[in-house]
Amino acid sequence: MLNIVYYFIKMIESISSVKIENYDTLNYEQLKILKLQIENEIKNYNSKINKLKNLYINIDNLTYKKCNHNWVKESSCAAYERPAVYCNKCLSYKK
Ligand SMILES: [Zn+2]
Repeated sequence: MLNIVYYFIKMIESISSVKIENYDTLNYEQLKILKLQIENEIKNYNSKINKLKNLYINIDNLTYKKCNHNWVKESSCAAYERPAVYCNKCLSYKK
């Protein structure tokens, strides 16, 4: 478990402005500040991830609209299921 914490701290240090060294020697107030810094980093990354997800969805919708689709039936489904239809160019399922 400690190795995971150490790894996490090194990762945070490498990709953020938060500097964490010898955190086990920090006092209570310093630890509280450190926790806040890490919480802020997590919020920043979550915000970036959400922006990237929205961007991805928008681009995915645009590629769907702009693709000159070539619809094919999926062959790997069970006999009782209706075969799904997808485009073998943009790899989207028919909407
Ligand atoms: Zn397509």
